[in-house]
Amino acid sequence: MKTMQAAIWYGAGRENFRLETIEKPSPQSGEVLIEVKKCFFCAMHARAVLVGHAKHTPPVIFGRMFAGEVIAVGKDLNHIKEGMRVTVNPEKPCGECFYCQKEEFGHCLNPIKLKTGAMAEYVCIPPSLVHNIFELPSSIPYEFGAYTETLACILQGMDLSNITFSDCIIIIGDGGVGLTFAQLARLRGATKIIVAGKHDDSLQQALALGAYLTVNVMKESLHEVVMAETGNYGADVVIEAVGSAQTYEESLQLLRSGGTAVGFGGTPPGTKFKGDPNLIHYRSLKIYGSYRYTSHHFRQAIELICTKSIDLDSIITHEIPFSNLTKEGVDIHNQPNCRALVIDF
Ligand SMILES: [Zn+2]
Repeated sequence: MKTMQAAIWYGAGRENFRLETIEKPSPQSGEVLIEVKKCFFCAMHARAVLVGHAKHTPPVIFGRMFAGEVIAVGKDLNHIKEGMRVTVNPEKPCGECFYCQKEEFGHCLNPIKLKTGAMAEYVCIPPSLVHNIFELPSSIPYEFGAYTETLACILQGMDLSNITFSDCIIIIGDGGVGLTFAQLARLRGATKIIVAGKHDDSLQQALALGAYLTVNVMKESLHEVVMAETGNYGADVVIEAVGSAQTYEESLQLLRSGGTAVGFGGTPPGTKFKGDPNLIHYRSLKIYGSYRYTSHHFRQAIELICTKSIDLDSIITHEIPFSNLTKEGVDIHNQPNCRALVIDF
């Protein structure tokens, strides 16, 4: 039996995230085997390791945000060649369920997924997902290609926000996601992009990437700044990219009447938040949750990355060897200066 190393999550608790030796997949007819080169370990993974995850039942090999090299192609495939540098949209809607029939593909109840994620040395792409493999130009490093899925999720959040020219937009969160939102808001024509966070170096970077203003919430009141900047009306759009009850509550208080809130951050299981229903009612607020993405967003993300329309050098701050992932990944991710952590294989 040929083997490979994989990081397996057995549930909440650091000791339950372990590097193990398992059987290496061998591609059958119509399948493609990819040697993983880079894969992201994101905030959701760090949180799952510590406190569990509402949407995943262990054991799981995480890893949907990856890029690698095609090393074996099962019979009957012509458009994929060995040696190709690729990334993969790891999910495809079933096309048949309640939501797919409503053409709300992001909510598909039975999406076709990878059997195992890419926090492993190799990942096998089943026949139903081989058309989700996208070649990367040689000028695009693997870590940029691996960011495609994250960017697709953010693009869905952008669509829901409906940001347009001259909008005032507040982004709560100065991590990699928040800084990516800031860049996309600029591309969509927003003028007053205000990024709020706790880390001076990230906030400085947000200014370099096109933010109009930043607020360190440890030192200033975000509410006061937003009201001063908007003539006390409030912002057109608030994007929550932290994942805490407090920031979800705060988001609604920062909006003008008719404004739009997008909840992008996931929270630990069991989190509850409070709010004034009349704030939503009398101000006619529009509130959206953003989770997952569509194949359209994935293609948009590829295009933005391959044309270098998004600055990813300033987003991807940390890299770790795969062999150290289960020992150090959570701690590195929780360092204040870590915006995105990529695993190197
Ligand atoms: Zn479906």
